[in-house]
Amino acid sequence: MSMAGLPRMAHGAEPIVLPPLPYDENALAPVLSANTLGFHYGKHHKGYVDNLNKLIAGTEYADLALEKIIRAVAGKAEQAAIFNNAAQIWNHTFFWESMKANGGGEPPASLKQKIEADFGSLEACKKELAAAAVSQFGSGWAWLVLDGGKLKTMKTANAETPLTIGVKPLLTIDVWEHAYYLDYQNRRAAYVHSVIDKLLNWEAALKNMG
Ligand code: FE
Repeated sequence: MSMAGLPRMAHGAEPIVLPPLPYDENALAPVLSANTLGFHYGKHHKGYVDNLNKLIAGTEYADLALEKIIRAVAGKAEQAAIFNNAAQIWNHTFFWESMKANGGGEPPASLKQKIEADFGSLEACKKELAAAAVSQFGSGWAWLVLDGGKLKTMKTANAETPLTIGVKPLLTIDVWEHAYYLDYQNRRAAYVHSVIDKLLNWEAALKNMG
């Protein structure tokens, strides 16, 4: 726990902290089981935090906030391990916020209007997001982003994140196998459609539009 009011000691950079899940581990069941969330958050997400803190200890990155670390090492081959772990921390925190119990359904009116203007319809937007998620070859992420004022979907491989390419992420879906294999085995498309239809947090997307 950080001690409010105490100056940060030069030798004691505060570690990157695993943010709390925004809901209980069983909150997204049966779409995503507590077993899946337990491993995904408690082992995978936490693992990236533990790895990153080891990797940055004593380096020029030790005092930086997570987003600054990601931007500082993006594209630097010799810092790939720091990038991968830092970006995965950020992506997972963003993923948890992209879902909620009893999600899916209708976006707030102002977002729905924007979706209809940029995609033609809500159905077309969901279809494009699902296609990005299903077609990502191997591990990665599907995203709804704001790019130059226009909504669009994209996919990234492994730990890659839209943060570093100048577009604003609004929602994401994790398509690493660890995100769905316990509940859906190889059926990525079933997982993706269930998340979009039953868990997607459109209010979070609107908030992220700023
Ligand atoms: Fe994941």
